[in-house]
Amino acid sequence: MVELRDDFERKFKTLRVSLINTCNLGCVYCTCGTEDLKENHILTKEKGLSADALSAIISQLHHSLQLETVRFTGGEPLLYKDLIKIIRSVKQLGIDDLKITTNGLLLENIAGDLAKAGIKSMNVSLDAIDEDIFFKVSRRSGIHRILKGIDKAIESGIDVKLNSVVMKGLNESQILPLLDFAFKRNLKIRFLEIMAMGHLFGEADKHFFSQDEILAVINSQHQFQKLSRTSSSTANYWQTIEGKVFGIVANESEPFCGDCNRLRLDSLGNIYGCLSSNFPIAVTNIETEDELANKLQIAMWQKQSLKFTGSNLSMLNIGG
Ligand code: SAM
Repeated sequence: MVELRDDFERKFKTLRVSLINTCNLGCVYCTCGTEDLKENHILTKEKGLSADALSAIISQLHHSLQLETVRFTGGEPLLYKDLIKIIRSVKQLGIDDLKITTNGLLLENIAGDLAKAGIKSMNVSLDAIDEDIFFKVSRRSGIHRILKGIDKAIESGIDVKLNSVVMKGLNESQILPLLDFAFKRNLKIRFLEIMAMGHLFGEADKHFFSQDEILAVINSQHQFQKLSRTSSSTANYWQTIEGKVFGIVANESEPFCGDCNRLRLDSLGNIYGCLSSNFPIAVTNIETEDELANKLQIAMWQKQSLKFTGSNLSMLNIGG
């Protein structure tokens, strides 16, 4: 086991695994939707690792770090052929807190199997309730399928949360409808400030909609008070006077790097200590514990001290 901590006492306890670097949506903040994506934003068509190969890496990481949580993400994790197999094998390692982040498009038919395999909690990314606005953000239709998928996941006993990226001029009109949708189903919802990643690196400002602006919109309909933040949480939370909870992931306005406990593994077998790093550290073919310990130390050095600075690596690759 590696007792790895940095100067801020940060440890790696949560692993985010990007199972696949392709997606069935083309969200405007994740992909620029043109061919230059490949050259400029390090999107690779290289084939990802099999479930056995990824599980072997996760097992080595768990042995060294005593991981507490694994979140499967992507790209779109529901497109990964051996999704149920890899969830089962990670559960067999003794890691019980298994989560997934999905766009929900393929969720309806697989929700029950995800629950049976060990998924306890799920983030569904949903940036609009209105079909036209959903199309503008994601460049695809199919919102009714996502809504059915959410209902199926809830029925299957999975704790579902919604994540909505808010972009100025695109979907800020959806904040209240999304909140209403979540409150009616008793779901937690988090609004995300846009992050300067991938093709938005250096250009996120034009779509930036801040935590304060989001709160002002919500305040036009609801009264609320702030809840205290739990350690390593990515979101700030508020509770309305009716007892409903919503959150904001304020990467820019209120960065939360100071107690980040996340390590990322991409679909090709590289680890990253920080979303702001685009320097992949290969952990395929590791033979000794010392070798892995050295690589984990490098990943720890990638962590930013105070603030997310962004990188030209899209979330499609590094995993959201
Ligand atoms: N395909 C899955 C999904 O849509 O949830 C998982 C991967 S996706 C990259 C994970 C999360 O990253 C989504 O909630 C998405 O909204 C968020 N995301 C991607 N790029 C972002 C950006 N530039 N700023 C803020 N959030 C972003």
